[in-house]
Amino acid sequence: MATQSADEESLPLLGEAFAVELANSRYRSDRDDLDFLDDPTAVRRWFDAAPDAAGLEVPAGLGTVAAGRLREVRDAARTLLTELADRSPELSAVAVERLHAASRQAPAHLALTAPAGEPPGWELHYDGPPEAVFLASVAAHCILFVAGDDAGRVRHCARPACPMIFVQQHSARRFCHESCAHSVRQARYYRTTKHARRGAES
Ligand SMILES: [Zn+2]
Repeated sequence: MATQSADEESLPLLGEAFAVELANSRYRSDRDDLDFLDDPTAVRRWFDAAPDAAGLEVPAGLGTVAAGRLREVRDAARTLLTELADRSPELSAVAVERLHAASRQAPAHLALTAPAGEPPGWELHYDGPPEAVFLASVAAHCILFVAGDDAGRVRHCARPACPMIFVQQHSARRFCHESCAHSVRQARYYRTTKHARRGAES
C-alpha cells in the first residue's frame, strides 16, 4: 500500500484488528518515513478513521507527551508484530515490558455485559485520568492480540518495498492491499515484456 501524505484518504488502514492497524501507523519504507500518530491532531484523525478503534476514546485534551507515549506503545506493538510475521522464536522483552508498563497506567476490572437478545460478553472497565485510561486500553488491545489466536497469522506484505503487515485469514492472500498486488503484477509484466523484446532483438 503506497501512502504519500497524511490526509484522511491515504491513512494506512486496511480494516484489520486494532493492534495491526496501530502497528501500520508508522509507514517506513526505503522511500517514505511517515508517522500517522505524529502529534495530537494526527492521533485524533487516525483514531476517528480506524475501523477497529471503537471504544478507544482519545481524551479531549490529549497532549504531546501522551501522544509520545502512545507512539512508544505503537512502536512496541510494531516490534512484536514484526517478530510474529518473521516467525521469530522469541519476542522482544523490552517491547513486552513496554506494553505491560502502559497497561499498568490505569487499574481495570472485568465487567460482564448481557444485553437482551445477545449472548453475554465481557469488557474491561478502567478507572483513572483519561490519558492513563487511553494508554492502558490501547496497550490492552495490543496484549490481547499478541496473545490471541490471530498472532500466528501475522504476515508481511509480499510487495518487497511495502512495510505493511496484515493478518492472513486466507492462505491465498499475500498482499496488504489490492494496490500492492497490482503493482507487483505490473512490475512482473514489464520485466517479462522487456525480456521478450530483448529476446526478439537478439
Ligand atoms: Zn503492501
